[in-house]
Amino acid sequence: MIKSYLIACILFLSTVFSSSAENSPLPCLNKKFSIVVHVVKDIAGNTNVLESDILLAIDTLNSHFTKICVSFEVCEFRMVENFQYDELKFDEETDELIVKNSIKNRINMYFITADEESPNVCGKATLGGIATGGNIYILKRCIGPGDFTIPHEMGHFFGLSHTFEEPASQIVDGTNCEITGDSICDTPADPYIDGENIANYVSNCRFTSEKKDGNGDFYDPDVSNIMSYYPCKCDFTNEQYIKMVNTYLSSNPKNW
Ligand SMILES: [Zn+2]
Repeated sequence: MIKSYLIACILFLSTVFSSSAENSPLPCLNKKFSIVVHVVKDIAGNTNVLESDILLAIDTLNSHFTKICVSFEVCEFRMVENFQYDELKFDEETDELIVKNSIKNRINMYFITADEESPNVCGKATLGGIATGGNIYILKRCIGPGDFTIPHEMGHFFGLSHTFEEPASQIVDGTNCEITGDSICDTPADPYIDGENIANYVSNCRFTSEKKDGNGDFYDPDVSNIMSYYPCKCDFTNEQYIKMVNTYLSSNPKNW
């Protein structure tokens, strides 16, 4: 079964990738990416996160990328001694942090205690950073069992937007899905507005909002999508996987 799957993947790679291949077989990159983990110490010199917990979180990350034959491994743990960056003033201090610490041709993932400019987010990543260069930032408290912060940020790093990107623009019937919202058609229109109370939208992982689009149709978003903000995350869609593969292929793959 594994063998036939690999052959199917290879055959697919020889074809032109389609941006609307909802039901197409997924491409297989057969690629392992190296992550350099940078753990920023606090003022007392403590890391406040276990390397074993980070490795478990990377195992979970890998489980969400097996469908496109991608995996990640931590090639190095590095400590950042300057505690100033542990409670990061993101806009002011990030450039300095990465110039001093990031390693070329690796995925640089920083673990910090707080992002002082976005106290309610669990992580940040450069959109499409796998192609353009960039970094990933994860709050140390956001890597426990069932936490999807790292897969979500890796989705951004591979070019994915939120399912609720430009929430009012995408209509429910899907007719403008390629040019609005997250520009992906197998993620239904998602009306969530960043900063609003999630409880106004979902209850027990059921979408309960009665918001309607411009046509008067009720929204029915995928509350289990990793790129949503709903607390029911489960997986990416096929078109999200294809976009991630294409983002990588648009880079200079030799760098990786
Ligand atoms: Zn996000």
